[in-house]
Amino acid sequence: MALSPRGCRRLLDPGGHGVLPVSRPRGVTMKRITIAVLIDALAWDIVEARGFLPELAHRRPLRTVLGFSSAALPSLLSGRHPDEHGRWFLYRRDPVESPFGFARLLAPFEGRGAIGRRVRTAYEKSFASLGGVRGYYNLYEVPLRYLPWFDLPERRPIFEPGALGRFPTLFDRLEERAIPHRVWFWRTPEERNFDELLSAAGEGDEAFLFFYAFELDGTMHARGTESEETRSKLRAYEEALRAALAAAARRADEASLLVFSDHGMVDVVRAIDVRSRVLALPFREGVDYLPFYDSTFARFWFRSQGAWAAIRDLLSGEEGGAWLAIEEEKRLRVHFPGREYGDAIFVARPGTVIAPSFMGSAPPAAMHGYHPEGKGSDGVLLSTRPIPEATRSILDLAALLEKEAARTHGETGNGDDR
Ligand SMILES: [Zn+2]
Repeated sequence: MALSPRGCRRLLDPGGHGVLPVSRPRGVTMKRITIAVLIDALAWDIVEARGFLPELAHRRPLRTVLGFSSAALPSLLSGRHPDEHGRWFLYRRDPVESPFGFARLLAPFEGRGAIGRRVRTAYEKSFASLGGVRGYYNLYEVPLRYLPWFDLPERRPIFEPGALGRFPTLFDRLEERAIPHRVWFWRTPEERNFDELLSAAGEGDEAFLFFYAFELDGTMHARGTESEETRSKLRAYEEALRAALAAAARRADEASLLVFSDHGMVDVVRAIDVRSRVLALPFREGVDYLPFYDSTFARFWFRSQGAWAAIRDLLSGEEGGAWLAIEEEKRLRVHFPGREYGDAIFVARPGTVIAPSFMGSAPPAAMHGYHPEGKGSDGVLLSTRPIPEATRSILDLAALLEKEAARTHGETGNGDDR
């Protein structure tokens, strides 16, 4: 990651979070600056083994939620469980709200070699420009014929105010309280975001800086947690964050850095081909049942009791995972009575992936999306400041960050310590 020299200022912020004036002198002093950095998939186990940013003296594992970032990020930013804010998986069954109706017309071409691949690419491009979805999504390898059954709950980026409707996120709270801040996320390239973070820490107007680092997650999926690529990405993050903290410290009485993550990461040791085994049963996919094969979850909706009984029995004997019981859904706060995320949900054990899946044919080198109490699933919180005793889960971060932002801004508390 190449960081541009200090002072390379960017006049326009494409994120719409403010414009840096050209005429203002550099290095305006500030009482406090807080840099809050969310590193996707920074696992507690990795931090423990490597000693990531060891100078951050206050360190703790954070329990995550069952699911992927599509569940963890809304929970982290709102302090609410998935069964409250409604976001669990990227795809949920909802043929009425589905933005993929047009895919039905192209589905017959899929699977016909080069023509099918061209049709799919053309569809993906047109959906990106016309689909009306501004939130994070990826069509991965979800079959075109099944897309019209599914909706994408995240219609606008989770890092924008109003993203969770009636549930305020950290960013809604910052707006409400008129706390100046800046936010970087996947909408702009990460390397450029790090350049801007450095400038903002050293000479920006906002004292509360929120940075979402998303590339480590993909590096680990592709190469594993022990790879040289992962090590070098971690080193680059350390270097960039040390530089930003140092830039803030040069002009603030107190410069704080909080580094946290949404979930962990586990190296993959085994892949199970659930789909082929289910297809071998005497029931028709897409007719007797609708499947969604995620990397670590196989979700099913049934139209026939026979199909449910057969698939249940088949996977009950599979060592690589287990059916999620309703009582466990409730305990983990991912119970959806409308069953929009699946009538029955099979969860892989840590280190096992379902491959091929709708996410891709080849298994990833590392994965997350396992039981939150399993090995490797914990996220982290590392801080220059003491961490409150009660902060134990990613759900505790929204309130903590809001408090830190208010403190940075100079508010001494308004009795609203949710
Ligand atoms: Zn991931």
